[in-house]
Amino acid sequence: MDNILKTHKILKKDFLNKDDLVFLLATTGESFQALLDKAAEIKKHYVGNIVYYRGLIEYSNICSKNCFYCGIRGGNKKLDRYQMTDDEVIEAVVFAYKNNYSSIVLQGGERNDKSFINKITSLLQKINKATDNSLGITLSLGEQTEETFRIWKENGARRYLLRIEASNRDLYRKMHPDNKKHDFDTRLESLYTLKKLEYQTGTGVMIGLPFQTLEHLAQDLVFFRDFDIDMAGMGPYIEHEDTPLYQYKDLLLPRKERFELSLKMLALLRIILKDINIAATTAMQAIDPVGREKALKAGANVIMPNLTPVKYREGYLLYEDKPCTDEEAEHCMNCLESSIRMAGDDIGYGKWGDSKHYFNRINKSK
Ligand code: SAH
Ligand code: SF4
Repeated sequence: MDNILKTHKILKKDFLNKDDLVFLLATTGESFQALLDKAAEIKKHYVGNIVYYRGLIEYSNICSKNCFYCGIRGGNKKLDRYQMTDDEVIEAVVFAYKNNYSSIVLQGGERNDKSFINKITSLLQKINKATDNSLGITLSLGEQTEETFRIWKENGARRYLLRIEASNRDLYRKMHPDNKKHDFDTRLESLYTLKKLEYQTGTGVMIGLPFQTLEHLAQDLVFFRDFDIDMAGMGPYIEHEDTPLYQYKDLLLPRKERFELSLKMLALLRIILKDINIAATTAMQAIDPVGREKALKAGANVIMPNLTPVKYREGYLLYEDKPCTDEEAEHCMNCLESSIRMAGDDIGYGKWGDSKHYFNRINKSK
C-alpha cells in the first residue's frame, strides 16, 4: 500500500499497536506531516491550545550518580559543583509567582543523604510560605525512597518527573554503570511508588541514543501507555564530550534527524495518551532554534522557562549547546511569549495547568 494511504489508515485507528507505532516513527514527507496534523488536532480537542509555564530551577549539579550520557555525572571532575542558596531559590520562585507562572520545577542531581532530603523538605516549606501555597510544585530529583517521596508530598510537592530514560532493560543497562545505584528495577519501582502516593507522575526518554532502534522507541510509547503516565518530558539525546557515551558519537543519527524523530515521538504520545501534559523540552531548542515552537505544534502543551541564576547555568550543562545559558529570566520570558503565540497557542497565565489525565485517572479509580 502507498505510504500516505497506510499512514491515514493507521491514524484512523482507535488503538495503535507496536507495529503501527514503528511504521509511523519511520514516516517522512507527506506522511510525517499527516502525523503532526493529527497530533495538533488531538491536542486542540483534548487539552486546548494553551501552554502552561513551569519555571525551571536547576537547584544543584551535585550528583551521586554516573549516568553515561550526562554532563553533570558525579565522575565528571572538570566541573565546579554548586548548590543554590535558599534565598536564590526563593528569589526565582517569587519571580515565577509575580509573573503568574503558577508552577515551578525544582530539578537537580540525585542525592539520597539525610541532609539533602531535609534541605528539600525545608525548601518546600519556604517556597509555600513565600507564595501563599499558590504554586504547583514539581520535583525532579531522581530516585528516592517511599518515605522521602511521602515527606516531600506532605510538604507540598504535587508532581514528580523521573524519566525512565529507556524502557528497554538492555538499552537502559548500556546507558548506565552496571551497579546497584543504577538499577532498572529500582527506577521502575520509584515510578510505581510515585503513582501510589498520588503524585502527578511524569516520565520520558531520550531520543536518538546510540544503539536505540525504532522498536525501542515504539516500546517506550507502549510503556507510557501501559504505565498510564500523567506527564511526559522527552527530547533528543545530545552528546557531551566529558561523558563515556561520547565514544559512540559516530553511531548517532545526524542532529536534524534526531530532532525529527523527537517530534514524531511527541506527536505519537499525544495521539495515544490524549489528555496528558507534554513538555516542549529545552533539548528540542538546543538542536533547532525554533524547536520548542515546533514541539508545541506537534502536541506539546508545557514549557519550562529557565529561572536558574545565570551564574550557575554553565554548571548545569547536561549536554552540549544547551541554549539560553547567558540570558536572564526576564529576557527569556519576552522572546518566549511571542514565539508561543506564533505557534498558535495562548499562555495559561495564573493557571496551574494540572494534568487532566491525572484527574481522569484518579476519579476512575475511586
Ligand atoms: N538527576 C535527575 C534530574 C536531572 S537530569 C534525574 O536524573 O532524573 C534530567 C534529565 O536530563 C534526565 O532525566 C535525562 O533524560 C536528561 N539528560 C541528561 N543528559 C542528557 C543528554 N546528554 N542529552 C539529553 N538529555 C539528557
Ligand atoms: Fe545525575 Fe540525573 Fe545526570 Fe544521572 S541524569 S548523572 S542522576 S543528574
